[in-house]
Amino acid sequence: MTHPASSAETLPCSARGCRAPAQWALRWNNPRLHPPERRKTWLACAAHRASLGAFLDARGFLREVAPMAGSPTLEEWTGTNERQAP
Ligand SMILES: [Zn+2]
Repeated sequence: MTHPASSAETLPCSARGCRAPAQWALRWNNPRLHPPERRKTWLACAAHRASLGAFLDARGFLREVAPMAGSPTLEEWTGTNERQAP
């Protein structure tokens, strides 16, 4: 029963029952279910990065772990798609 407290979007950790803001994006792929280029993303707070990562890594699903610096980084990523041609 919460609503966003600010306009800045804070994505929650994907761990069950955890409401902490995510700081890491764990990208994974289950080769039995997904084509090789497909990436599923779990978000993890600092406390759950290791446990979620270990869960995926134990199954051979984990592909990469990327830090989530927050929306400024996401905006930068989006911005690179619109870089000006010389
Ligand atoms: Zn968490």
